[in-house]
Amino acid sequence: MNFYVVATPIGNLEDITLRALRILKEVDLILCEDTRVTSRLLVKYEIGTATISYPSDSLRAGHSPAKSSKIDKILDMIESGKTLALVSDAGTPTISDPGSLLVSKIRESFPDIKIISIPGPSAVVSALAASGLPASDFLFLGFLPHKKGRETLFKEIATSKRTVVFYESSHRILKTLEALGRHLSTERQVVIARELTKIYEEVISGTPSEVLNYFEQNTEKVKGEFVVMVKGK
Ligand code: SAM
Repeated sequence: MNFYVVATPIGNLEDITLRALRILKEVDLILCEDTRVTSRLLVKYEIGTATISYPSDSLRAGHSPAKSSKIDKILDMIESGKTLALVSDAGTPTISDPGSLLVSKIRESFPDIKIISIPGPSAVVSALAASGLPASDFLFLGFLPHKKGRETLFKEIATSKRTVVFYESSHRILKTLEALGRHLSTERQVVIARELTKIYEEVISGTPSEVLNYFEQNTEKVKGEFVVMVKGK
């Protein structure tokens, strides 16, 4: 029996593979991060499969009875022979998104089940591909912590020989660019990919102060979703 982890678009709903659409049609149930978000994709492709939400990874299942019982319910469905697919709101589930706790519980409970990854978009890969930065190997940091460990990570980014990539929200992007300006040498290359695959998609490249100036001068662009990339030393 199979369990599918399915990548979905990061903005443009055309960015979905034929295989992903077939799997989403064929499974008994789709486990969603937010059923309302996934329903836009399902409506566009006339997929009538039932959906439910799955619990986030933040709390250990055992510490939350509601969460634990939801995971148990999903495990029961697999036991009863149902084929399930896991999706997140955008991109690849488990990449800075919930899902890994559930996948690990399924592995633990059903060693014989085949967990199949249906590849597709992920913002980290799409951003690197358009950046022109070396990407044979890179360091991906997900979202930076807001407080504890943040300064240490900026120091690590400043000394990294590899391209460093991380996710950032519109609320914190200016603060983060200011911090990069403090930690990086003045000529270091920073690339920002914003709103990939969407109407206002853009990729901005420059020194830390050039990139910060760009967003300070164009405050209407401090909106949407951002991937930050820093060239290795
Ligand atoms: N699982 C997703 C993936 O595979 O890329 C990432 C989910 S994470 C909760 C959301 C973050 O990914 C956003 O805050 C942003 O940093 C980045 N992101 C997602 N979609 C994006 C897009 N269209 N353009 C730029 N960054 C994006």
